[in-house]
Amino acid sequence: MFTVSKKNTSLSFDIIDRLAAHDDVGKKDVELLLSLSKKDEIDYLFAAARRARTAYFGNTVFIYGFLYFSTHCRNDCHFCQYRRTNTEIRRYRKTMEEILTAADEMKQSGVHLIDLTMGEDPWMFARGSSRLSRFSEIAEQVKKRTELPVMLSPGVMELNQLTELARMGMEWFACYQETYNRVLFKELRPGQDFEKRMLAKNVAREHGMLVEEGILLGAGSSPSDIIDSLYAMKREGFDQVRAMRFVESKGVTLPAADNSPANQEFLTIALMRLLMPEVLIPASLDVDGLKGLSVRLAAGANVVTSVVPPDRGLAGVANASLDIEESRRSIEQILPILKEAGLEMASHEEYQTWVDSRRRSSGAKSASENRRCA
Ligand code: SF4
Repeated sequence: MFTVSKKNTSLSFDIIDRLAAHDDVGKKDVELLLSLSKKDEIDYLFAAARRARTAYFGNTVFIYGFLYFSTHCRNDCHFCQYRRTNTEIRRYRKTMEEILTAADEMKQSGVHLIDLTMGEDPWMFARGSSRLSRFSEIAEQVKKRTELPVMLSPGVMELNQLTELARMGMEWFACYQETYNRVLFKELRPGQDFEKRMLAKNVAREHGMLVEEGILLGAGSSPSDIIDSLYAMKREGFDQVRAMRFVESKGVTLPAADNSPANQEFLTIALMRLLMPEVLIPASLDVDGLKGLSVRLAAGANVVTSVVPPDRGLAGVANASLDIEESRRSIEQILPILKEAGLEMASHEEYQTWVDSRRRSSGAKSASENRRCA
């Protein structure tokens, strides 16, 4: 196990203080924080991350509903149970009626946003009964019915479909690289193009959408890769950034064994908060369920994902079923944990205000970047 001497302890405290003060800190120093294992050092890091969260968000937290409506996918990502060649899972494609019923339930439960997620399903990208694709029809209907902000997580899609969805008023586009190490990217996402994924995010932003980026831990990323990815996300200026640990599931084996420490995800969340204090950072229920929520909030997360209604046969991403049918992915179960952490659920107005103001500032930023480039 990694242990640090007293001298190293004061070094890590010093690095944390400098990060919190937005001083210039070298990547190697930040990387050192990813190997913290002593309680007092981790507590110190997490406390700094929570102070950074409070400075931008007070004690409020946002909560997202998650609607995985098609588990069909044309891709074959090694880390994902929904990959094309996995024959060990039963797949589904929900009907419009089933999707709207689940969306209604999420709205009634009080979530701030509905995350519409699917594998890269060509059937969904094809034209439906109108001039729109089936995917666009679903997004349009869910938005109209719930009047909630919507996040689209469909993987890489045709750019004209994406811009059409932006014009329809969809607020968010989520598309994860999972790593900025291009060699590892190729291993994890065989046959996919790193730049094409980045381009989709940039096009979404140019058309006024907010963008979520994400990285996967425990699937081959070294500490140095993780820090490189964090700096890349900071440089790109994404609006929401997530780190999630790889979870073993049916039919999923990774090419290489990975010995990352169990607490790496929490340390990464804290570093994200210190490096990007003003953005949204999820605490996902998808990895460890409800029992893993407190530690992610303690590390500086400020969005709880993913609330999933029971009895609808809906899956999660990393864990297909954890806590779902037991109704533990619900706001009633989340609220006491927030309270214990001294946090509370934001109002819908507060969430909308954050989204509107972030979109205005992102728009202003890309307009000035365009002027500089012209
Ligand atoms: S991660 Fe997404 S694109 Fe890759 S196989 Fe899974 S659902 Fe498909």
